[in-house]
Amino acid sequence: MAHQHSIPIIEHSPSTHALKERELKQIKTLPPGSVIGILGSGQLGQMMSQAAHQLGYRVCVYDTIADGPASFVADEMMVGSFEDHEALGRFSKKADVITLEFENIPVSALQILSLKKPVYPGPGVIAICQDRILEKEFLRTHGFPLAPYEIVESAADVKKALFHFNAPCILKTATLGYDGKGQCQLEPGDDTLLAWEGLQTRRAVLEKKISFISEASVITARSLQGEMVTFSLQENIHRNGILDISITSPSFLDSLAAEKLGKAVAGAIGVIGLMTIEFFLLPNGSLLINELAPRPHNSGHHTLESSQTSQFEQAIRAVAGLPLGSTELLHEAVMVNLMGELWENGEPHWEALKGDSQAYLHLYQKKEAKKGRKMGHFTILGEDRAQILCDARRRFENLRKDSH
Ligand code: ATP
Ligand code: MG
Repeated sequence: MAHQHSIPIIEHSPSTHALKERELKQIKTLPPGSVIGILGSGQLGQMMSQAAHQLGYRVCVYDTIADGPASFVADEMMVGSFEDHEALGRFSKKADVITLEFENIPVSALQILSLKKPVYPGPGVIAICQDRILEKEFLRTHGFPLAPYEIVESAADVKKALFHFNAPCILKTATLGYDGKGQCQLEPGDDTLLAWEGLQTRRAVLEKKISFISEASVITARSLQGEMVTFSLQENIHRNGILDISITSPSFLDSLAAEKLGKAVAGAIGVIGLMTIEFFLLPNGSLLINELAPRPHNSGHHTLESSQTSQFEQAIRAVAGLPLGSTELLHEAVMVNLMGELWENGEPHWEALKGDSQAYLHLYQKKEAKKGRKMGHFTILGEDRAQILCDARRRFENLRKDSH
């Protein structure tokens, strides 16, 4: 059945989860020179590695591939499968604390690692966040607001649920979905067998399609000591189910409500590290949670330049037992993702970003520019949201224009 969400949100103040004073004393700050182990070698791992270096740490990255973006920055790159317990054991010996840059890591690997070294966020948090069904059930049982959904395990289930909603819906695989992959839209009366077989999964959710006004996200950091801070929230614009642009300070959004939800979720799940919440804003002003990401998030890349502390530095601070940094927003910002298709006709016209010290380009050093692959991003800072959005869009068009 569809779940209704009128239950009030359970509030968890930081102190609810803060540790007792005696325990607090036992938490050691990771000394400079220690090694942060990062699972995953994508761009998030790359930027986490850079932040770790700035804090005086060394980095060992573990992934199944050798030449991911983080491999160019890490002090050491270890290649192995997440099923190879021996290789994971070797990795655990090198790291003083282990964190991750993506949630699709087998929980068994995290459990094995956590027997040797602290793993943050822990296996319990990742188990929830890597499975859409567990994540939705967790949020629902804690009274957090969600889009109506039903768990489906067959084409017949999908048909029944679609009939029940009698409205446009989205079928989403329970595991391994990202950037809108593993999803398909359905209208009442559509061929559910075709949709189900196309998804190639055994477990999924059918979720009602939400007519949102906009999308947003809030990133919360929760430290080893249970301290929590949120970054100011951003509006997110997607293209083909993939994040395209993030803009700071959406005035039409109740930022206090979003931040409160961010802390409530981070506290309830007990994350150590970052927890991102993706939201839908409804016409009546209320927020629904779309999904969680227990790590730095694409929508927070602007914090590298816009905020006192970046999301990457904060992620490292949280797992290293350092005090969390200030999340004060120093400038309004617009972040634009650069996808592989931008390279379709050759190298983009980088001149479009030059001549203004307020445009910051980040390229992730990926070898091949494929359609739908995140190759980099740029961020524009300024004081006026509308103006920098306009500026960012113009620059993006110019990047493309002259590349022919
Ligand atoms: P990512 O990992 O990139 O965040 P994902 O594959 O996990 O993406 P979702 O966040 O669930 O997928 O969905 C991607 C996008 O599709 C959303 O940001 C939103 O634009 C759209 N979308 C998803 N669910 C719904 C819904 N119930 N109603 C309307 N739009 C939706
Ligand atoms: Mg999403």
